[in-house]
Amino acid sequence: MLTLRCAACKKKLWKYDKVGQGEVLRCHKSRITRLYQPLKEGGKITCSCGKNIGTDKGTFIKMTGKTFTYSGTKRNS
Ligand SMILES: [Zn+2]
Repeated sequence: MLTLRCAACKKKLWKYDKVGQGEVLRCHKSRITRLYQPLKEGGKITCSCGKNIGTDKGTFIKMTGKTFTYSGTKRNS
């Protein structure tokens, strides 16, 4: 499980069940297990500090590179 944080203000964004060892390019909403801030549907995903984190694509969020950090572990299957 990964905990994602905003790179600008370090606030927690959400917990994500990342499958595979690759980079976090997308976050599938069905695998977000805990939200620390509300997601705004249908547009830009921003942190409460105003930083743009990604774009809502419906079932997943397309993450914007270098706008977030994460800690924790990815699972293989
Ligand atoms: Zn922030």
